[in-house]
Amino acid sequence: MPDFRLYNTLARREESFAPQDGHTVRMYTCGPTVYNPAHLGNFRTFLFEDLLRRTIKLAGWNVYQVMNITDVDDKIIRRAHEAGTTIGQITQPITDTFQRDREYLRIEPAEVYPKATEHIGDMIALVQRLMEKELAYQAEDESVYFAIARFPAYGRLSRLDTRVLRPGARVAADDYNKEDVRDFALWKAAKPEDERAHAAWDSPWGRGRPGWHLECSAMAKRYLGDTLDIHAGGVDLIFPHHEDEIAQSEGANGVPLSRFWCHGEFLLTDGEKMAKRVGNVMDVAHLREAGIGAAALRHFMFSVRYRQQLNLTEDALEASQRAVRRVGELAERLTTAEAGTEALANAADDLERDAKAALFDDLNAPQAMAALFEFIRRANAELDQGGSNLAALERARSAFALINGVLDIVPDQPAVDAALRSWVEAQLAEREQARARRDFATADAIRKLLEVRGISIEDGPRGTRWKKVR
Ligand code: AMP
Ligand code: ZN
Repeated sequence: MPDFRLYNTLARREESFAPQDGHTVRMYTCGPTVYNPAHLGNFRTFLFEDLLRRTIKLAGWNVYQVMNITDVDDKIIRRAHEAGTTIGQITQPITDTFQRDREYLRIEPAEVYPKATEHIGDMIALVQRLMEKELAYQAEDESVYFAIARFPAYGRLSRLDTRVLRPGARVAADDYNKEDVRDFALWKAAKPEDERAHAAWDSPWGRGRPGWHLECSAMAKRYLGDTLDIHAGGVDLIFPHHEDEIAQSEGANGVPLSRFWCHGEFLLTDGEKMAKRVGNVMDVAHLREAGIGAAALRHFMFSVRYRQQLNLTEDALEASQRAVRRVGELAERLTTAEAGTEALANAADDLERDAKAALFDDLNAPQAMAALFEFIRRANAELDQGGSNLAALERARSAFALINGVLDIVPDQPAVDAALRSWVEAQLAEREQARARRDFATADAIRKLLEVRGISIEDGPRGTRWKKVR
């Protein structure tokens, strides 16, 4: 197994990573809050996790990934309340959109997508355990809070200055900022609008609903056990969300919640965090409209390391579209070539070595892409030479497939419908006949006609191949 270096937020440095059991990486990734379609900022984090997941597999391990679906929280209830409906009516279509968008971006599916509302029992059991250990208490407002003063490790992940801790003071909101270091809600007493939105359940402390942080602690335990290999999310989750998950889980279980904590930096637009409340969001629907495919977006997202901020611009997306076209052209050439040269095999060896070294160095995707583009340059030159080495061609194909299997940046072929296909094939048959009777003027005219329709053709020893280029 390679030396896989990964930055661990808990230690504030890169460490050597391997799964605890030597085989399978048990990974928990905080998922979307389904009140609005996920935007590209959210997807930057999910793509970083996809890169992590695929790099782990490249290293030779299996992955068991859990991504929760937050289908009850303050924002969802407010949305349901405004629409006069239930939380389920709000969250179901958005969850479907999330899965479609995820597929569009070629993000590999997690093994499980548990929903918060389907694990209320697990959450209640966890709060009970915290009550038994006197780490939680029910306040006058009937909600149950975590007593941070009784958990000395509180603030370790986010390195909070202990002087700003305000134990005993309470915060009920799901999301709050660094200045709000107070006892946080585990279980919130139901309000009439919660009942109307079907966001209230029975519990030993009366009707209520879980706080946001509680769901991850409960579902991580349910699907992955008490100590995970990796827990990941965006940097904004370090505090309060992950700090609170640690307090709940470690308070209840008495063992570390995760061996590694990995956080991806923000996607920005015009220098500001992409966020719904800032009003600068772009989502997958916009990408589809603009004809920007998964390959280009992935290329763009991987052009900067995950721990650095990345600014979204139209120019950068266009540059990525051009770049992945070259990747697609080489993929096509490797498929149709019949043999290669010795030097092609050498280029393939260099690609595999350099891209792996980059990825295992805390997911250095830009450097892995640089290795791929260097390979494309060299491979094109070698394929121009022709060559007769079959094994060399196979070597190039497999190294390319291996590294592209992580980055996944070959663009989709433009769709060809059945009518176009049969028209193209009729034209090609006619062109064949023209060529057979040495009527090159007609053959040429047919080629031009095809070009006008966005079809490029290539004559080879195995007949004429065509593809749609626009
Ligand atoms: P949410 O649906 O708000 O719970 O967020 C889902 C994930 O997206 C979390 O891991 C967030 O940290 C992450 N996230 C939110 N905004 C951004 C952004 N602008 N750039 C990168 N990640 C983000
Ligand atoms: Zn979480």
